[in-house]
Amino acid sequence: MEGAVRFYFFRPCRLKECRRLPKYQNPYFTLPDGTLKHINPLTGTEVWSVPTRAHRPFFNRSLTPPKPLTKVSKENYCDFCQTEYFRTPPEKARLVQTSDGNYQRIEKLNPDLLEASQALFRRVANLFEIVTIDYWTKNHGFEFSAAQSQWKRNYLENPRGMEHVLHMVDMKLKMSGKTGEEIAKMTATEKLNLSNGFFAGAHELVISGRHYRPRAEWDNELYSSGEMSPEEHYRYLRFTIDAMMDIYANNRFVRYVTVFQNWLQPAGASFDHLHKQLVGLDEWGTSIQAELETVRENPNIYNDSIVNFSISHNLVFAENDHAIAISEIGHRYPTLAIYSKSQHARPDEHKEEELRGFSDLVHACHAATGSEVPCNEEWYYSPRDSIQLMPWHILIKWRTVNPAGFEGGTKIFINPVSPVMLRDQVVPRLYELRNQGKIRNIRIATECEAKPNSLLYGQK
Ligand SMILES: [Zn+2]
Repeated sequence: MEGAVRFYFFRPCRLKECRRLPKYQNPYFTLPDGTLKHINPLTGTEVWSVPTRAHRPFFNRSLTPPKPLTKVSKENYCDFCQTEYFRTPPEKARLVQTSDGNYQRIEKLNPDLLEASQALFRRVANLFEIVTIDYWTKNHGFEFSAAQSQWKRNYLENPRGMEHVLHMVDMKLKMSGKTGEEIAKMTATEKLNLSNGFFAGAHELVISGRHYRPRAEWDNELYSSGEMSPEEHYRYLRFTIDAMMDIYANNRFVRYVTVFQNWLQPAGASFDHLHKQLVGLDEWGTSIQAELETVRENPNIYNDSIVNFSISHNLVFAENDHAIAISEIGHRYPTLAIYSKSQHARPDEHKEEELRGFSDLVHACHAATGSEVPCNEEWYYSPRDSIQLMPWHILIKWRTVNPAGFEGGTKIFINPVSPVMLRDQVVPRLYELRNQGKIRNIRIATECEAKPNSLLYGQK
């Protein structure tokens, strides 16, 4: 009982006048019955890991047995598959592998050539934007950039391009609930006006070229981030960062491009076909805003409260020269956090070797998670107009826990998998994957250097 009752848990108050209250006197504390209470030092999310609930299964594995796949020369399982390139909006860019093994990015591919190569990754507008082209036009006076106007003109001048765009608009109208009759009454000009988001919107998808992993025989052998080779995963991140920079370059009103990946339907994905989403915003969003306010008070908080804290509580589970991976406290879902150690606080500023190192750890975490686990990948980095800096980090949240009524009423979240349990799930898998040669450039568990203050964000 020693001291258990002496600790109070303060939730963070974002009102300036309340800042004097002590914060999180003890953010990570086990009660005598084994209940672990942990509070995220950056968000204030309070989580309890209750031992009795830990016996429930970790994964919501499918109860239906897998079905054999029919062999096809080109994948045709969903709208993101190789045979369906015309069922997504016009392609902004694709990455291909050339015959000599190099990688090549092709931009704004002519519609006649869409099917002439196999894409490793493709970048297209989201058919249903969260922040729409109208939002930018009406609220900010956004206009097409010269390059976007030119592309739209070129695309529509091509008969196949025109047909593709009109078909996509029809598809969108139909999915929005319009009847066939209503759609047929619309003129081509009216429809083309609805296609502006395809060419100049700021909500995009980066879609993987594959649906199932190579040589898959069963329908549960999906191609997840962890199924890629480390090289493919690096290319995936590089391609996504290029997309992010292009959104900034074409829309001056975008202050932050949020990047995320929902893997499998329980994590919010509409298709079980791997893709990331990028959404340009005219603000930083609440969580980045709140984190940067915390940084203003303590610029070293990501070292103090995350890395150094995790080292002393033995929650660092993997590392390399450029990144460090932590089983992070205070998340409603079991969460693997990967922090870039770079001095550069934005993804696009990372040098190639830094990006490769960071990508290798993110890839290893996905591989250890396994393609059957629904998860969200969320990116956090310093907005381009922020003076305060945060290190680029990615959270991988396992969507294996369903919040219930208790959470809604109390804002205390029950996460049956404590950070230590999560670490102990992941570490043996990492050793196994490394022995199989599937992950690279990683130090695991006790091999980690785990040096305090190893995040150098913002340092010259
Ligand atoms: Zn597919």
